[in-house]
Amino acid sequence: MNIEELVNKFKSGEISVIEYTKETLAKIKANEYNAYISYNEEDSIKRAEFLEEKLKNGEKLGKLFGLPISVKDNISYKNMRMTCASKMLEDFTPVYNATVVENLLNEDAIIIAKTNMDEFAMGSSSRTSYFGVVKNNLDTERIAGGSSSGSAVSVSNGDVLVSLGTDTGGSVRGPASYTNILGYKPTYSLMSRYGVVSMANTLDQVSIFAKNIEDMKLLASITSSTDSKDMTSILENYEFKNEDYDFAGKKIGVISTDADIYKGIEDIVKEDYKLAIERLEKLGAEIHTVDFKYAKFANPVYNVVMSSEVSSNMSRFDGIRFGHQTENYDNLNYLFIKSRSEGFGEEVQRRIALGTMYLSASDNQRVYKKGLQLRTLIKKELESLLEEYDLIITPTTTNLPTKITENNDNPLSDFKADGFNVIVNLAGMCGISVPVRDGISGSVQFIGNRFDDNKILNAAQRFIKEAK
Ligand code: GLN
Repeated sequence: MNIEELVNKFKSGEISVIEYTKETLAKIKANEYNAYISYNEEDSIKRAEFLEEKLKNGEKLGKLFGLPISVKDNISYKNMRMTCASKMLEDFTPVYNATVVENLLNEDAIIIAKTNMDEFAMGSSSRTSYFGVVKNNLDTERIAGGSSSGSAVSVSNGDVLVSLGTDTGGSVRGPASYTNILGYKPTYSLMSRYGVVSMANTLDQVSIFAKNIEDMKLLASITSSTDSKDMTSILENYEFKNEDYDFAGKKIGVISTDADIYKGIEDIVKEDYKLAIERLEKLGAEIHTVDFKYAKFANPVYNVVMSSEVSSNMSRFDGIRFGHQTENYDNLNYLFIKSRSEGFGEEVQRRIALGTMYLSASDNQRVYKKGLQLRTLIKKELESLLEEYDLIITPTTTNLPTKITENNDNPLSDFKADGFNVIVNLAGMCGISVPVRDGISGSVQFIGNRFDDNKILNAAQRFIKEAK
């Protein structure tokens, strides 16, 4: 059942919103994958009763009437605490709703739970979560990816039809690929970031998990909006359209098998990528190999730009303005140091330290400036490729989800898998991860230029139809 069908059953009274809400809460409570951090039964039931009342009174009902939606725990919903999976915010409850949440509520949705994630969205496995790792529902010995791990499992496991995550460098597309569902990162600026805890402002984007393109588009059209509270958001609403995408004669850019970045891809992922390309050829697409002259440096460039922005954004968590406050301290300086040392986990601290170094004035911000220069080159390279080709298609992640017990001593190894994802964030473009076959397997990413969101969604829809 898709959203529209379910919502229609709520509206006709065939399914009771209250009963459905209770069933969803029961699934959330019974979740064996550690996918959730918070839920608020009383709030959800009250909301369901309020909606049923609206129905009874013959009031106008929203497009998401009665639909339970889970939301990553770095997006504000004022009736639930928001931890960002950090000890730093263990007891924090926001005082306002994020604009994206407000948009969902205006269409009569129910925010049913806050999902587990990597601490402050930093990571690709949820191993950095203060609340423990999320297990992959398709194979509980494996990670579900990250950082929006809980949201991915929430949808993949069928607890909810759609969930919101955030994607700064693959945090929605990666876990979508690991749990075999769709993960869509819209063009930068399509979704307001107001009320979303910043990790790296110029890369962060609210993104969506779903199991089919109709649901994805419906949710995107509601979540996306102009917003005077976020000066980087779009100035005119974007219209999501249903159009048939015909691959016949379309020029599609793919990674050359001779390229170094291709060699770094795990074998099964390569095979699934090949399968996807064959399917595109069958649909009539012209396949061309592309050369990533600059994009192959995406990981170090991402690391520099992201960590620099992280170090600045995290400064507000000092035990006074926001966050955990230490108990014993001799002076103000110790209050800051101890609160931050106790509140932040290792990965967050490492990124703050790196970013502070990249921005260091004594070095004239040399590394950061280099990072920005390379970012511009990557963006220009992708722009010129997308002038020549209709779409670029890459594997989503370079590997399959690893075992939870796998020793992961090298902090940089987590970044490796996301190389094809981070180029999209660095360029402010849009991307969607699409499964190629069932189960734990390699997914592919459709990359489009800025505001090519309709194109990638419609192309993905055609691609999925062909698989059936
Ligand atoms: N792997 C990326 C990182 O660890 C993902 C971050 C994100 O998209 N939030 O920084």
